Amino acid sequence: MTKRVVILGGGTGGTLTANRLRRRLGDDVEIAVVDRDDRHVYQPGLLFVPFGLAHPEDLVRSRGRQLHAGIGFHRSAVDHVDIETDRVVLDDGTVLGYDVLIIATGVELQPEETEGLTGPEWGRKVFTFYNLEGAAALEGALSHFDGGRVVVNVVDLPIKCPVAPLEFCFLADWYFQERGIRDRVQLTYVTPLDGAFTKPVAAKVLGGMLEEKGIELVTEFNTGSVEDGALVSYDERRVEFDLAVVVPLHGGAAYVGRSPGLGDELGFVPTDQVTLQSKVKPNIFVIGDASALPTSKAGSVTHFEGDTLTANVVRFLAGEPLDASFDGHANCFIESGFGQAMLIDFNYDTEPLPGHFPASVGLPLLKQSRLNHLGKLMFSWLYWHSLLPGRDIPGIGSHMPEAGKHGVAQGKE
Ligand SMILES: Cc1cc2nc3c(=O)[nH]c(=O)nc-3n(C[C@H](O)[C@H](O)[C@H](O)COP(=O)(O)OP(=O)(O)OC[C@H]3O[C@@H](n4cnc5c(N)ncnc54)[C@H](O)[C@@H]3O)c2cc1C
Repeated sequence: MTKRVVILGGGTGGTLTANRLRRRLGDDVEIAVVDRDDRHVYQPGLLFVPFGLAHPEDLVRSRGRQLHAGIGFHRSAVDHVDIETDRVVLDDGTVLGYDVLIIATGVELQPEETEGLTGPEWGRKVFTFYNLEGAAALEGALSHFDGGRVVVNVVDLPIKCPVAPLEFCFLADWYFQERGIRDRVQLTYVTPLDGAFTKPVAAKVLGGMLEEKGIELVTEFNTGSVEDGALVSYDERRVEFDLAVVVPLHGGAAYVGRSPGLGDELGFVPTDQVTLQSKVKPNIFVIGDASALPTSKAGSVTHFEGDTLTANVVRFLAGEPLDASFDGHANCFIESGFGQAMLIDFNYDTEPLPGHFPASVGLPLLKQSRLNHLGKLMFSWLYWHSLLPGRDIPGIGSHMPEAGKHGVAQGKE
């Protein structure tokens, strides 16, 4: 009987995995992708929408059309997974049996979990740019903003693309300068971390950039509620605002909680960090933001995981031992305004370090440059035309390159 692979989620990870598996296995397996809608959003583009640098309609394409011929597409939400009987039940009543299940349902934003966040000021003075509707609404609010306190807040980690809120701060500084009102805007970045970022070398560089740009940094702030134009922390500190841009709490997709034995308390799926096989059952694999792995939740990580994941699903179906090769590689452009961007590249063991990527001649790391900005802009084309179709991107491998980095050994300590 033909083996069946069911992929939950038709975003970055689900799409690239389906296309890679189809290319490797052809008609030898039946591949079905499930997603609740047919709108695939290029999420890195959301950062640019509030500043009028990208238009919402240009970021969206049909999910079904990103899948190669021969891959089935079910447009319905997942109700639950029964890991005992290897079956997925969809909201529309369809039941899909599987030999291998791939979880690629990303994260769910949970703004309602923070008291007062979605209260009367939501969509008027309090926004998020982490989804298309929020980013578009924020564009309207920013264009009418003519001075006051703008606060950018990360409620708690993990979040996807942890550098995106910092990029928002840098672009806001540029945007208000362009509009000639920067001297009337007080910009503040409020984070639960003890610095601008998690990794020490990058935190120092990014913290320095906030300072240079006159953006105040408030650390170790755990937002407990949002009330009357202020963020209030659990230890009762207040940060007043006229406009707040909030990255809400993230959790796994809600169906994970309805699927006994599948996820942890946050709804993420426990996963082996080098093989990407789930820890809950051998025939379940996980890619992207849905996993509980100790790596960044980012499209680049999802892309790099794709190599190991595809190889291991093929091996699993053939009864062969798995390849333990995923190193946690992450690679992020950090837009810094004025046509410049930085680049950071790291993995489980090596923090972001200065130097060049991918070798001693290449894009500058941890340094602002025009070349990195152009790389960030070009990435949208690569996303639709190389990454999602499952093609290899020349010069970008799934393993973190060490050549070109200064002090790799010290980063491993
Ligand atoms: C503002 C912003 C900027 C970003 N910038 C960058 C960047 O510059 N670089 C970078 O590498 N990454 C960036 N990212 C992160 C990147 O987009 C994600 O990490 C990546 O898309 C993760 O892929 P995924 O497949 O795990 O999840 P997704 O691509 O989010 O796909 C998950 C899919 O699962 C579906 N789904 C969820 N629940 C259900 C259900 N119950 N039933 C059916 N379907 C369901 C969803 O509809 C969705 O299509 C950014 C993200 C944001 C929000």
